[in-house]
Amino acid sequence: MAAARRFDLSHPHALAVYCSDGRFTDAVEELLHGLGHARLDTLTIPGGPALLDLTSSGTGALDTTRAAASFLVRGHGLRHVTLLAHEGCGYYRERYRLESPEAMLRRQLADLRGAARWITNTHPSIEVALYFARIEAGVVVFDAVTLAATR
Ligand SMILES: [Zn+2]
Repeated sequence: MAAARRFDLSHPHALAVYCSDGRFTDAVEELLHGLGHARLDTLTIPGGPALLDLTSSGTGALDTTRAAASFLVRGHGLRHVTLLAHEGCGYYRERYRLESPEAMLRRQLADLRGAARWITNTHPSIEVALYFARIEAGVVVFDAVTLAATR
């Protein structure tokens, strides 16, 4: 079997960091294409951007994920990083079993912002965008998340 599209030697300029949960993969790619990123580097791991912030990550996973993100940013000359968290994330449910849905959302948004701070501090030239994916009327809806906590 051969892929339909010709291989493009140049690296994409955008990286998406999101959870491995395949129920969201197509929607995430659709969002990023809509944002003008026709091609993407991806960093997917259970919990996604949670692994870039110490609050909800172990130090080993934190180091590994940060090293992977920095490798892509530097090695591939990236200009945009999009960090995405999602509703009902199994990584968070397992880590914070007794958390209410409201507290979990606050925690995920705080982690998302923490991950964004790390990116912008470590790679100042990178433009960062944050999204929270939730299910509404049977489809995935993405809410843009501001870098500063305003809600
Ligand atoms: Zn998840």
